[in-house]
Amino acid sequence: MKELVKQLLYERHLERAELVRLLSNFDQELLSYINDCARSVTITHFGKAIYLRGLIELTNFCRNNCFYCGIRASNRNIERYRLMKEQVLNCCRLGDHLKVRTFVLQGGEDLAIKDFIVEDLIKSIHREFPYAAITLSLGERSQESYQAFYEAGATRYLLRHEAANRDLYNHLHPDVMSYDNRIECLHTLKKIGFQTGAGMMIGSPGQTIEHLVDDILFLEELNPQMIGMGPYIPQRDTPFASEAPGSVLLTLMLISIVRLMFPKALIPATTALATQADDGYEKGILAGANVIMPNLLPIEYKTKYSIYDNKEAVHQTTKEQIENLKKRIDSIGYFFSENRGDYEP
Ligand code: SAM
Repeated sequence: MKELVKQLLYERHLERAELVRLLSNFDQELLSYINDCARSVTITHFGKAIYLRGLIELTNFCRNNCFYCGIRASNRNIERYRLMKEQVLNCCRLGDHLKVRTFVLQGGEDLAIKDFIVEDLIKSIHREFPYAAITLSLGERSQESYQAFYEAGATRYLLRHEAANRDLYNHLHPDVMSYDNRIECLHTLKKIGFQTGAGMMIGSPGQTIEHLVDDILFLEELNPQMIGMGPYIPQRDTPFASEAPGSVLLTLMLISIVRLMFPKALIPATTALATQADDGYEKGILAGANVIMPNLLPIEYKTKYSIYDNKEAVHQTTKEQIENLKKRIDSIGYFFSENRGDYEP
């Protein structure tokens, strides 16, 4: 099996059957080996720098009903919120003070957040922090909307494909949601010029190893600049509440595989990974990740963006969280970069 890892390291590609074999049969020793290889690839391209992306969860209103997600429209058990412009700017001010150089506006697909509101937010953030990068993660919108956001000054967009396999996608989403539209959106974002992020949950209900291989091959074809993957975590008010969470070890395996295939990609050690393992951030970085996304929201909103249960650090202030993260990554020999960390081809 180490031969497969070496092949992936040198050729940045494996055939479907090889990927299935790698993902089906790995043990702790092979995982450590691939983690080491992936980590050295990350260090070759990025050194020991970790990029901070400050998450601003703009709204937890959502028109969709993804079966796995706690902010789904039908969930009556969460208190909905939508940030005002000044609140968003205050999140950026705090992030800026803490040396965060990317602001990520994320949210449910909230019909009240019209394009002009997003454009105004982008321009206002850009005006006050011209040196910072603005990333959006607001779900599926029209090509015109994406274009307008790009022209307003956003340069990155995160839109996980969720499942490259159509049947799995349909198992995770209600009929009104369209696999084709989601994939089309990703191609549109890339075409417009966004640094584009795709990705999937690991261990989402019904997902098999073959499905994960579909995801890897899809990523290979799309060639995104950012790849976000975290374990699926159940949320109590969803139809999938009693499904098992995704595996931390499998997530670490995926991070390393993807790092070997995309040496220059920006890959986060996700909050979901840190929720499922106390040392999830460290493990993710040691498996090849190079991004951490702390939450910039005021504490009273952090718990309300409850996409899954027991989310990491929701009871910490942003300052506490970032200071704590600094110590943690320092303890494994890494540091937070004060640069924007754009994708460099
Ligand atoms: N609405 C936007 C979208 O669709 O891309 C962004 C917000 S959405 C909540 C962000 C991501 O959270 C999704 O892409 C999904 O992969 C992840 N997510 C949602 N529910 C989750 C769960 N139960 N466990 C792990 N990740 C989850």
